[in-house]
Amino acid sequence: MTKEEEIPDWVGAQEFYDKYDPKEILGRGVSSVVRRCVDKRTSQEYAVKIIDITPSDKMTPQEIDEIREATVKEIDILKKVCGQDNIIQLKDCYESKAFFFLVFDLMKRGELFDYLTEKVTLSEKETRKIMRALLEVVQYLHGQNIVHRDLKPENILLDDEMNIKLTDFGFAVQIKPGQKLKGVCNAEVCGTPGYLAPEIIECSMDAGHAGYGAAVDIWSSGVIMYTLLAGSPPFWHRKQMMMLRMILTGSYDFSSPEWEDRSDTVKDLISRMLVVDPKQRFTAGDVLNHSFFSQYVVDEVRQFSPYRRFKVICMTVLATMRIYCNYRRAKPVTKEVIKSDPYAVKPIRKLIDACAFKIYGHWVKKGQTQNRAALFENTPKAILLSMAAEADEPIHHIW
Ligand code: ADP
Ligand code: MG
Repeated sequence: MTKEEEIPDWVGAQEFYDKYDPKEILGRGVSSVVRRCVDKRTSQEYAVKIIDITPSDKMTPQEIDEIREATVKEIDILKKVCGQDNIIQLKDCYESKAFFFLVFDLMKRGELFDYLTEKVTLSEKETRKIMRALLEVVQYLHGQNIVHRDLKPENILLDDEMNIKLTDFGFAVQIKPGQKLKGVCNAEVCGTPGYLAPEIIECSMDAGHAGYGAAVDIWSSGVIMYTLLAGSPPFWHRKQMMMLRMILTGSYDFSSPEWEDRSDTVKDLISRMLVVDPKQRFTAGDVLNHSFFSQYVVDEVRQFSPYRRFKVICMTVLATMRIYCNYRRAKPVTKEVIKSDPYAVKPIRKLIDACAFKIYGHWVKKGQTQNRAALFENTPKAILLSMAAEADEPIHHIW
């Protein structure tokens, strides 16, 4: 049988459209679109990842074959890992000559990335819940010799109870015990190296490199953990070369104000995940056994040094005095005040900021050389946003 005869021309697509109604787009990838869809018989909602392998000018036949092969591997791994609570469940899949349809449970709350963008930073308690679930998934995958290779907040979805579901196994690979990997993976192709482990970068630069293994997922998990707590990733620079250098040398710090009130325990754990040498890096088991996952928040509070405690007391007294003085000085909010300087009125200012956020879809950190969006994505748009933040100018001036 020839390859052409093996692949049904349209049957798979027809079967999908007979059973499901595709709806609006939920997300996009390089060669896929994810849409909400509804089971016609039960009215149950799902998400369908439609992978386009139609011959076109944009893709060579070889690229199409590669996507087809990669999708078959993705389906194979998704079937192997089904049943783990924090991994997305593949419900159905259909294949035609031009498309793959992968039907998943619908995660209405979307990506962890969007949740973080909205919240800016997460508490240690919330981070602990998310990271414990993520590391349990990583431990489970590594136990089966599967490396995900594309861990990032965009590939972590949230269910109705805010539990995480890991998705996008498009770059996951099944390895033999001890086997080393050499291939390129997603982040390199797409130009967002923020979550890439140093050994992957080294491997792509040096043909004689010994290769990399499952430890790359721990590095990415460390980057995610840092990002959840700080609201911006540990390795970011407008110039990609500088960013790669930072990753290769493991240059990051806990100097931003967000880290002031974080426990030493959490910083210790991150520093054991973001270790450049993969042999010295914690494994998933080591991470889960770290005291960060076994202690209560109360313990963390107790770890405050006397100096820190003194600082907190001083700040509390100052804040109380400021609130009292402001209360005494408070002027009534009149129509005139709202008309002449609406930004000076706090609730209105918040409303304006929220509207600006809705329009631009990004937070801009004032007075800093970076903005959060640019930290996550290395795109021209993000760079422009970063420039705007640096110049402290409204974004549309540069746009
Ligand atoms: P790609 O391989 O193209 O990155 P993903 O599987 O990561 O594809 O899906 C792309 C995006 O689609 C995700 O980042 C997410 O926003 C959305 N998405 C994917 N699966 C679901 C789902 N089950 N429920 C809700 N949204 C989803
Ligand atoms: Mg993805």
